[in-house]
Amino acid sequence: MSGSSVGSHAGALAGLMEAWSSAAALCDGQGCVVVFNRKFASRLGRSAGELSKVPLQRLCDLNPATLTSEPDSMLYGQLNLEAGRTSRRLNQPCSVPVRLRPLQIRGSATVPWLLLELLEPLVSLAEMDQISQGYQQAGYGLFMIELLQIDLIRGKLGVTAAEALVEELVRRLTEALPSPGFLARQGGDRLVVILPGMLTVEAARIRAEEMMVLLEAPITMAEHVLEPSVSVGVSRAQDDGNDFRQLLVVAGRALDETHRYPFTNCCVALPEERQVRLLSLLAHPLASAIEQDKLELAYQPIMELSSGSIKAVEVLCRWHDSELGQQNPEDFIDVAQATQQMALLEQRVIQRALSQLARWDRSGLKVERLSINISPLRLREPEWISELQRLLDQHGLTPGRIILEIAENSFLDLAGVGAIQFLELRRLGFGLAMDDFGSGYAGLRRLRELPFTSVKIDRSLIAAIDYDQMQQSMIDSLISYARNTELEVVVEGIERARQLQMLISLGCRHGQGYHLAPPQSPAQIETLMRSGSLLA
Ligand code: C2E
Ligand code: MG
Ligand code: MG
Repeated sequence: MSGSSVGSHAGALAGLMEAWSSAAALCDGQGCVVVFNRKFASRLGRSAGELSKVPLQRLCDLNPATLTSEPDSMLYGQLNLEAGRTSRRLNQPCSVPVRLRPLQIRGSATVPWLLLELLEPLVSLAEMDQISQGYQQAGYGLFMIELLQIDLIRGKLGVTAAEALVEELVRRLTEALPSPGFLARQGGDRLVVILPGMLTVEAARIRAEEMMVLLEAPITMAEHVLEPSVSVGVSRAQDDGNDFRQLLVVAGRALDETHRYPFTNCCVALPEERQVRLLSLLAHPLASAIEQDKLELAYQPIMELSSGSIKAVEVLCRWHDSELGQQNPEDFIDVAQATQQMALLEQRVIQRALSQLARWDRSGLKVERLSINISPLRLREPEWISELQRLLDQHGLTPGRIILEIAENSFLDLAGVGAIQFLELRRLGFGLAMDDFGSGYAGLRRLRELPFTSVKIDRSLIAAIDYDQMQQSMIDSLISYARNTELEVVVEGIERARQLQMLISLGCRHGQGYHLAPPQSPAQIETLMRSGSLLA
């Protein structure tokens, strides 16, 4: 059959393609679309007239000439769509992943025909391996999701119910995955998701938490209401390597990490090389940014949940480097710690934040209290407390308006001398908050040992509070404990109205989070405070 005679059989081929399971098109040896099925046209949002005889290059980022050099190969690429062309993402240009297979048609040895299939988000693991090769350059996140109670459900409700649950979770993920994103099932209780694009550790964690919220919503199955529970381990190309199988191993290890600590159900791999690379990339620019006082400060309101009034603001450090761009605080704080720059960084933050508080006072704005993150190393420096007191005096401020936040997991290096400083700070009237409570494992013991005035509950403990009974009872007991010991409780990371409602009904009085107000500039804080309550 010659190339042109294939063309003359286009009608019959179109009939065959209609029966094809995926959206697909056939291109001739010149790389022009000859026949396609209705699924193909509708997924691209194009009419039949718009597709017929269109050269592949106009649709796709792959040159079909590359296929003629390797006739047995199978290639993956992208179809780029204009805004408004797909039903999934109406307002953004997007790209649909495609698989191209050269077809050696008898009689047309020199010019292979091409079968072009649009990929569905659900693929096999082997396909994912091949697809991922196309994303190595741009980077991607590999999310390994473990469905925690599958064995239990299999035992109690049977294999069919367990499979139906997995299917439902796959459906939720498939519908919510941004395009292009892929999903594969690995074994009975594991799903693997690929999200193309460079992800910072924080962005990967946010994506993982979004998936967890989606998957953990209750589901009714065989007359039972099930509350699925998942753990997620994440690895990232290229930070953790380029090979898909290696990234699977790293994500698997990160997933194992989640089992080592209570309350941790998401872990993003942090390879040693990354730390080394961050150090070499950021250490010098960070040193000059600190030296030249170029770090910016953002302020996040901490509010009374029932009234919506702002009780305090937490100061958070921001760094935008003109060449490297906006940097993640967790990254540069790590680098500052590893390169002994923390003392100077914190000194700058404290100086600027205190003068901001004094400025607010002068302008008549009632910011009652300021929360400042400090590393426990400060408590080992004998001069630090008197220097802090001197700065407060200089601005006419009192220690009672300052809360010092120390993260739960940073207490490991707080030896006896730190505890004495802790008592001294309390005696002077400073507030002392244990930050990120629940993210480590020594929280309760430390709360009992040291004279804290408040505890900030890590957002991982309230991520599912609106529907997870275990989280509800955990917060309930923490609140009773806090009430008995006169600790103030502040909840971090409130992102949804339903979380807020549940927290209020459990008796939580104070909190912060994107749902209430994100970290923002002093001017925005002023506008917010002058407009009154944050709650509509
Ligand atoms: P942190 O003290 O626990 O601060 C809260 C973090 O949660 C902030 O991240 C904030 O932007 C983020 N956040 C606030 N609301 C939400 C929410 O609703 N959802 C989610 N997912 N996140 C929310 P950020 O600014 O990236 O800071 C990260 C950490 O870096 C801080 O955690 C703190 O430990 C450290 N840090 C920041 N600035 C300083 C500083 O000046 N000194 C010291 N020692 N540490 C700092
Ligand atoms: Mg904090
Ligand atoms: Mg925190």
